[in-house]
Amino acid sequence: MAYYKKPRGRQNGRPKFGGSKNRVAQIHPSKFVNRASVGSDDAVSYQAKHQFADFPFRNQLHANIRNQNYQTPSAIQDQAIPHILEQKDVIGLANTGTGKTAAFLLPIIDKLCADPQEVSVLILAPTRELAQQIDDQFRIFAKDMRLFSTLLVGGANIDRQVAQLRRKPHMIIGTPGRTMDLMKRKQLSLGGVRALVLDEADRMLDMGFIGDIRTIVKQAPNERQTLFFSATMTSKVRELTKEFLRDPEMVSVKTANTSDRVDQDIIEVNSKEEKLSKLLNMLSNEEFEKVLLFGRTKHGVQRLSEQLKKQGFSSVAIHGNKTQSQRQSALKSFKNNSARVMVATDVAARGLDIPSVSHVINFDQPATYEDYVHRIGRTGRGDATGTAFTFIERY
Ligand code: AMP
Repeated sequence: MAYYKKPRGRQNGRPKFGGSKNRVAQIHPSKFVNRASVGSDDAVSYQAKHQFADFPFRNQLHANIRNQNYQTPSAIQDQAIPHILEQKDVIGLANTGTGKTAAFLLPIIDKLCADPQEVSVLILAPTRELAQQIDDQFRIFAKDMRLFSTLLVGGANIDRQVAQLRRKPHMIIGTPGRTMDLMKRKQLSLGGVRALVLDEADRMLDMGFIGDIRTIVKQAPNERQTLFFSATMTSKVRELTKEFLRDPEMVSVKTANTSDRVDQDIIEVNSKEEKLSKLLNMLSNEEFEKVLLFGRTKHGVQRLSEQLKKQGFSSVAIHGNKTQSQRQSALKSFKNNSARVMVATDVAARGLDIPSVSHVINFDQPATYEDYVHRIGRTGRGDATGTAFTFIERY
């Protein structure tokens, strides 16, 4: 491909590591190079033990699932739903893209419908977007069941959230900060919570929400079911599970090693100008159908998106300086293909369910390899192979 210049000095498939002085990330560029192997996805080859029809859900819920065209339960759904229905606490080791949201929502919705108590389910998620996605799925699966949810996230009007809370929804879906805020204002009481879900718990820890989470969880009754989802099991995460869960069942979904399913390569550049021109070159190639572009800073991301627009590419930006509604509308245009490029920071892109991204481009290198894996996990989903490029600055 014309835009791609073979890295200089590659020996045994490994590029020489120059690294620039002003960069913190010291990930060896060879980690950004890989030829995708298809068929190594355990989640895809997983043989479900259950069909959705085997789960004793009420008819309306089955109908709502059918409307989504879900054929068979995903691995996490297949394994976690029976435990959740048995009222067990569950630790689910699974990341975004595995169907974990439906894994906890479906049994919870069914139970809520049997006994629709107000403010009896609390779901905590690390980012506004993830909370929004959970709420979107809740509305789909709880359709025509007379169940109501309220989304408590920052960046949205708090008075409106207070008004919604007064109408006593059955389910609260919130980020820790805003949820705490509403509790402090005495607008939200958790005395009636019977099911608590901590989604992407490892991310919430990374983002420094541990204090808020402890305070929130303490307010919920001890007699409750707790469902805990995390992509990783670190010692800190394990500590939390001991603190919050009772005799939990552990369900681990070995997702494919993302890196194996994604074609990865580096693009070396010798100046800022060269970097931008190579990027524009790549985007002019129509193979780059739907591109997720990562930048390091909020300002950099905004600037890059504007530069792309000036060059005639439909681009949106998503980062922490955007209001909630701006982020929503950016994500929507990217999802419905009215924008071909989305430029994002790591934090803003976390947990987002963005289907069929053809290319991930790391305009700026990620700070950690874990961030890298998260980034490139946005392509090569399901049985598709994806492509990721990482710019390496040699200046
Ligand atoms: P999640 O991991 O919960 O973010 O879900 C990722 C995507 O998979 C979402 O778009 C879901 O709608 C979709 N999904 C979840 N469960 C299934 C299933 N059993 N069959 C097909 N798609 C699913």
